[in-house]
Amino acid sequence: MQGLVRVLVAGEIVVTKYGDLIDDVLDVPLFCPRCGRTAGLTLVADGREAHLECAEGHVWTDPEVAACGVRQLLHLSTQGSPPRFPGATVRIDMLPRISEDRTLYPPSPDVPGHLLRWEGRVLTATGTPPLTDCLHWARRLCAWALPSDGEVYERLYPPAGGNALDAHMAVVLVALALYATAAAADLARIEQVVPDRAAEPLAGAELRWLRPAGAAGLGGRLRVTDVHRLATAAPETYERWRTAARLVLAANIDDRPAAALADQNGRLPAVADDVAW
Ligand SMILES: [Zn+2]
Repeated sequence: MQGLVRVLVAGEIVVTKYGDLIDDVLDVPLFCPRCGRTAGLTLVADGREAHLECAEGHVWTDPEVAACGVRQLLHLSTQGSPPRFPGATVRIDMLPRISEDRTLYPPSPDVPGHLLRWEGRVLTATGTPPLTDCLHWARRLCAWALPSDGEVYERLYPPAGGNALDAHMAVVLVALALYATAAAADLARIEQVVPDRAAEPLAGAELRWLRPAGAAGLGGRLRVTDVHRLATAAPETYERWRTAARLVLAANIDDRPAAALADQNGRLPAVADDVAW
């Protein structure tokens, strides 16, 4: 049992279902298939699975009730007004943030020529330095995995035992893995990366020393703080960040056909640009 969450909902839980008879979508309350109750249901998330329980002890599953929805519901209900149940979609960014100086480390004089040429190619195609795009996609992958996977939830979400710095470094390492994958394949756009391939650079030690070149005035480099953390973290600390990043990728990859980031746009939650970096 990982990331176990139970939410008792006093009133009805309304979800949107497709009604084949009228060929339209309908808002309907969830109900127990055995006793018909619609109120006082408990939503349970456990690992990557979810189920419902009624007051009579009946247990069932519903395609509209996913682990991510239950954990988001708990998150939203601690923030005040009674929320609408998010269902099986990740709608909100629950990743914690750290506040720190955001100064970027200076451009490195010894970036390999092939990396500089590739960064130039991405910049020409997209107008954005590659690491900036990688960080944005990484944050979306992390924000999707956090409520969807019980282990990621426990490692990165503070109320469940995680911490904000680990969440931040997981984003950094997923971003560096996307960066290394895109550079190795000489892709012109980061959105062409198939996340399955990014698991490979994460398996080794190379990312710890990868320092993207960026572009003058446009950023695309790591923060001074991140470079320092990567260079000085104790082996067990770095291992914890790397494990979190691998779990984030695994949650996004497992049980899903391999597809480029661009094709996963609709599944991943939106995150504000300025929180990515
Ligand atoms: Zn029942």
